[in-house]
Amino acid sequence: MPILKILRRRGRPRQVVVQLTDRCNARCFQCGMNVGNGGPRGDLDRETAKRIIDHCAVLGVSALSFTGGEPLLAGDLLCELLDYAGRAGIEYLRTGTNGYRFARPDAPDFMDRVTRLAAMLAATPVRNFWISLDSAHAGVHEANRGFPGLMEGIARALPVFHAHGLYPTANLALTRLMTGETPLEADDAVSFQKLAGQGLSRFFTTAAGLGFTMANCCYPMSDDDAAKGASAAYAATAADRRVSFAEWEKRALFAALDAAVVRHRGDLRIFTPRSAVAALVRRYAGAARADRPCLGGVSFFYVDRQGDCFPCGYRGRENLGPFWKLGRERLDGQAFCRACDWECFRDPTELLGPLGDLAAGLPGWRNLLGLGLRDLGVWAADLRYFAACRHFDGRKPPDAARLAAYRAT
Ligand code: SF4
Ligand code: SF4
Repeated sequence: MPILKILRRRGRPRQVVVQLTDRCNARCFQCGMNVGNGGPRGDLDRETAKRIIDHCAVLGVSALSFTGGEPLLAGDLLCELLDYAGRAGIEYLRTGTNGYRFARPDAPDFMDRVTRLAAMLAATPVRNFWISLDSAHAGVHEANRGFPGLMEGIARALPVFHAHGLYPTANLALTRLMTGETPLEADDAVSFQKLAGQGLSRFFTTAAGLGFTMANCCYPMSDDDAAKGASAAYAATAADRRVSFAEWEKRALFAALDAAVVRHRGDLRIFTPRSAVAALVRRYAGAARADRPCLGGVSFFYVDRQGDCFPCGYRGRENLGPFWKLGRERLDGQAFCRACDWECFRDPTELLGPLGDLAAGLPGWRNLLGLGLRDLGVWAADLRYFAACRHFDGRKPPDAARLAAYRAT
């Protein structure tokens, strides 16, 4: 979100993540919504969805994400809601896919299918469209999702999307699979960080090689992490070892991520803010005043497919009732939660939180002054990079000259 806009709004940026569907056709081990898990599934009802969007407009929500499950399984409803939200004045609209439409790229109708999909999405006001990647290793990624030929299909599909003026983001899931066929395991922090760094480098290099111009990292979310706050409302977690990390491993993982972002952010636009990653390194190093409390339940919210609102996808015991009944008195309270690392809320909390402070007057200025000079410098550098990345606008190609300035020498 452009910086001046946030300051002009004179308040914290508001974000809502809506679960459009909990149906999914993928097998991902890291997620409770995978196709192998039972239980009733379904989509958000059309009229309920529109009430949610109308209320987002009333509350001044500027960023709205339609998540899943697999959002494309909702069919025409997805595009209808994106259009509706655009007409309601919500500017930052996002959705994504597990990539199933890109499987079997040698099928005779592949290019037609992909072209129809790109044209359909490009005709909506969606700003960012993500495609998930679990590993730089094609076999590992495709086996985890259950879609053969997916990587090759993505490589063929991306130029079609670009030709339609849509620049998808690679959503890189940080799990033990990111190192490929040999899972990320080591006995000590130094070896672990080295292996994680190599895996991350392969990840970013592969994403750029497939043709992505943007990438984002999804931090590991185990049942354990989610349960720190309460039982999850959003079932995108698992108890599996491949997504569970000890605190020392997380510290090493985030330190490796920070270094990898620096190495690769000249090759593609990497959303993952260094200020957020540095805060997580401090958190897992046990530092005092390590990170900002999350804006979940303060100015960011999660809405499930029944239309019920929660502070986030994980504080599932705090049902705030139907979203359209959420009153203004619930907004802009005191942030306090640090129960998990959900990047959807963690990254914008660190990146945009200080701007919200600047706009919020004296109490906000006090918060801001609590940041040390070094942290302020990292945050200011994030903002400069954000601008060089054309504010991560997925409807614009990268500015090659500005990105080149970030290329590692
Ligand atoms: S991570 Fe996404 S694609 Fe994979 S099972 Fe869960 S909802 Fe489906
Ligand atoms: S840190 Fe944020 S996303 Fe995680 S449980 Fe707390 S409010 Fe929710």
